[in-house]
Amino acid sequence: MTDCIFCKIANGEFNTPFVLETEDLVAFNDINPKADTHILVVPKKHYASLNELDNEELLGKLLNGVRQVTQKLGIKSYKTVINTGKDAGQEVFHLHIHILSGNIKGV
Ligand code: 5GP
Ligand code: ZN
Repeated sequence: MTDCIFCKIANGEFNTPFVLETEDLVAFNDINPKADTHILVVPKKHYASLNELDNEELLGKLLNGVRQVTQKLGIKSYKTVINTGKDAGQEVFHLHIHILSGNIKGV
């Protein structure tokens, strides 16, 4: 989607450093971290939220991305969050999984 910030980040338009990049997803630091480590795992393809995700295989790949990121960083204790919908606190309408570890303030 042209006006989507996470599509632009995933496309490399801001030269955001990726903690992980695969064929299907990227992971990068949250701009406003709510924990010592706060990383977002984001599919390259645009889905507004989990409600729009129609691809089970991709869902598995995203969770596997969480595992790869935490293993890479040596993080064994962490929280994963997916906010779905405005009332639940979703602010960016491109599906993403939060990874939070250390002094978690909540998302
Ligand atoms: P949500 O509330 O939609 O689940 O989470 C959106 C997250 O994206 C927030 O934690 C926010 O800090 C982060 N965020 C918003 N805009 C940007 C950005 O331009 N770059 C990065 N790295 N993170 C962003
Ligand atoms: Zn997008």
